[in-house]
Amino acid sequence: MCRHLGWLGREIAVSTLVLDPPHGLRTQSYAPRRQKHGLLNADGWGVGFFDGTTPRRWRSAAPLWGDVSFQSVAPALRSHCVVAAVRSATVGMPIEVSATAPFTDGRWLLSHNGIVDRGVLPVTSRAESVCDSAVLADLIFARGVEALGDVVAEVGTADPHARLNILAGNGSRLLATTWGDTLSMLRRDDGVVLASEPYDDDPAWEDLPDCHLVEVTPDGITLTALKGP
Ligand code: GLN
Repeated sequence: MCRHLGWLGREIAVSTLVLDPPHGLRTQSYAPRRQKHGLLNADGWGVGFFDGTTPRRWRSAAPLWGDVSFQSVAPALRSHCVVAAVRSATVGMPIEVSATAPFTDGRWLLSHNGIVDRGVLPVTSRAESVCDSAVLADLIFARGVEALGDVVAEVGTADPHARLNILAGNGSRLLATTWGDTLSMLRRDDGVVLASEPYDDDPAWEDLPDCHLVEVTPDGITLTALKGP
């Protein structure tokens, strides 16, 4: 399972979310603490962020820990909304930039932490990659990210072995699901972090329950139970 992280709040440097924390995505790329499937996340990384209302992405199929160019530039990348991930490719899935989250439809940035049988997903020619996560992202974009909870419950019912932790941001909202893997939340004075696992040992991190949809907006946080499998 990959690990992902979302931010909605004041504009801050991407490096303070991804690289600087002692157990941030950089550390999670080689030593995740809560990963249940896979030992490390060396098959690529992606950092997406909103530049005003425009989503921008920097992705790579190489491990995050070795990317000295990103380490140099990340302190200068500032945003109020970030969706980032490190990848542990599912067996059989291609290791390529286009298979690496976040995916985008031009309005949302979206990451999938999990696995799904592509046989239960509609065939599409728009997905960026044949990777299960890219095909699932395309379905969610086609249905509308607002319907995320319904799509996850439907796909999870069609494939009872699926793990469907999704994280999406559009610059003014974060939407995330828990369906088979961990997700934690940190409410800070300057914003909210959603992350597959806490990036530090702050006792303020909250673990979110499985089979739920969480929505973060500037007005507050809503947690809704999904119809489980
Ligand atoms: N199935 C996706 C992939 O192969 C996501 C993998 C994961 O969450 N580790 O990239």
